[in-house]
Amino acid sequence: AAKDAGRNCTVVYSGSLSEAAASRRELEQALRRALDREEFVLHYQAQVNAQGEPEVMEALLRWDSPERGLVPPGEFIPVLEESGMIIEATRWVFREACRQACRWHAMGYSLRIAVNLSPLDFRQADLAGSLLAILEEEGASASMLELEITESALLEADEHVQQTLTRLKAAGLPLLLDDFGTGYASLTYLQRFRFDGIKIDREFVSGLPDSEESVALVRGILTMASHLGLHVVAEGVENERQAAFLRLNGCPSLQGFHYARPQPAAQCRLQQNGRTINLQLPLDA
Ligand code: C2E
Ligand code: MG
Ligand code: MG
Ligand code: MG
Repeated sequence: AAKDAGRNCTVVYSGSLSEAAASRRELEQALRRALDREEFVLHYQAQVNAQGEPEVMEALLRWDSPERGLVPPGEFIPVLEESGMIIEATRWVFREACRQACRWHAMGYSLRIAVNLSPLDFRQADLAGSLLAILEEEGASASMLELEITESALLEADEHVQQTLTRLKAAGLPLLLDDFGTGYASLTYLQRFRFDGIKIDREFVSGLPDSEESVALVRGILTMASHLGLHVVAEGVENERQAAFLRLNGCPSLQGFHYARPQPAAQCRLQQNGRTINLQLPLDA
């Protein structure tokens, strides 16, 4: 009887496992088609300086699926990563970002576009070469873009990662450490890879200005960054109290729903000096 029960358990268990595996496989195939049919879109979210002027637009990937609707990156990036398709996806994102940066520059906006890299992108032999080739093909300059890299990309911080980052930086692409404070050994990495700046994770910003712990952490990060000559962006700024605290403590750049939600380029609007900037129209229109 015990054997039977065991066998039954095994049947039920492997049944649900293979169901999960099947839907996973289905998602992977749908993503393969999505890449081929270019069903991906980029939404852009502004980073503003202390005067509220937009300086950088972060490109955030969405899958505009005919069957599933607009799918957020958290639901498909892990699958792209596990299947290796992330490398192709990153190339698409970077090319699209180059094109949009050129469009905005032609319209008179000196906005940089920030592109997120996956830790898995560093598995390819020539990440730097492939990104620099795309820049050239699209006629964009390195200073029109920047790269956001999470600490986990640096965990396997070997010679190859270091050489890749050195080459990208030497070509003029600014490097920002994303989600700062949520990973490990960040200080050594900042030194070793000569990052241009850090993005303070939303987790720390959300506690401002009431949580003593968040206040201490954010002040500490801002002081450290200023001593190291690093740029700082605060992520996830959702209200004026958080924004006021950050400005008062010298945070040079702010990003969050308080200023703008991620939007398709065709719908990007920003507030500046009480006036609405429509990024679909030339600057002096
Ligand atoms: P991230 O790079 O840290 O991007 C910030 C995330 O926070 C975005 O979520 C953004 O929509 C959200 N956010 C911005 N402001 C606020 C705010 O005020 N409040 C709250 N609650 N959230 C805010 P999203 O677009 O869902 O992206 C999630 C993550 O997916 C990104 O985190 C990034 O790690 C990854 N991702 C997005 N696009 C790409 C891409 O093209 N390539 C790669 N490799 N990863 C990407
Ligand atoms: Mg980012
Ligand atoms: Mg982030
Ligand atoms: Mg984050």
